[in-house]
Amino acid sequence: MDEIIDRLKKVRKGAMFIIEAPSGTGKGTVAKELLKADPNIKFSVSVTTRQPREGEVEGVDYYFVTDEQYNEFLAQDAFYEHVDSQYGPRYGTLRSEVDSFINVGQDVLFDMDWAGARQMKAKAKDDVVTIYLLPPSIKELRRRLVNRGTDSPEVIEKRMGIILDKISHWDEFDYVIVNVNLQETVTKIQKIISGERMKRVRQVGLKGFVKELVKEASE
Ligand code: 5GP
Repeated sequence: MDEIIDRLKKVRKGAMFIIEAPSGTGKGTVAKELLKADPNIKFSVSVTTRQPREGEVEGVDYYFVTDEQYNEFLAQDAFYEHVDSQYGPRYGTLRSEVDSFINVGQDVLFDMDWAGARQMKAKAKDDVVTIYLLPPSIKELRRRLVNRGTDSPEVIEKRMGIILDKISHWDEFDYVIVNVNLQETVTKIQKIISGERMKRVRQVGLKGFVKELVKEASE
């Protein structure tokens, strides 16, 4: 029996979990908690042309590249999806961060905007699960952005200015959570992940398993 369970585990197809939220909604913290709690989820490290913020680590938070290096990735068709952000910097997801993992049953978590999520859905519909986090209030969101202390007042104003536009895409996502309490949000997403892992399309080993069940019945 153990052997069967092991085999079923191995042949599961990983899912791509995309979490999106307006700046300051706590998306980064939620992602960190999810990764810490589950070694079967790998974070897809994006490429960006923006400067690292204090505390951000190359290859962990992002691959920080120049415009020239970014153009090279584009020329090599190395991106699964990419967008030029409204703030100026460019962002992209490398194919190498994704395919080799989901094919061996490893789930991949993405921090990307709605435009990227849309591209991923178009390319890999069955493999992609999208989750949108809404802030409990706009006032609270501004307070969190200011307290984070990582952006200049001009950047905060810019971010606030496009928040409403970002929020208008909430209904393109599979799941929507109002992030009132960090731990509750993490628990809700963990439940989503458990359910998604059990979907028939992800359990690619089931076909062979059922075949064997049928064979066994005729023995
Ligand atoms: P930040 O510069 O604050 O880290 O991210 C700014 C925005 O870019 C966020 O909405 C973030 O989710 C998005 N982002 C980060 N990486 C990617 C990516 O690889 N692709 C896309 N489409 N968006 C990304």
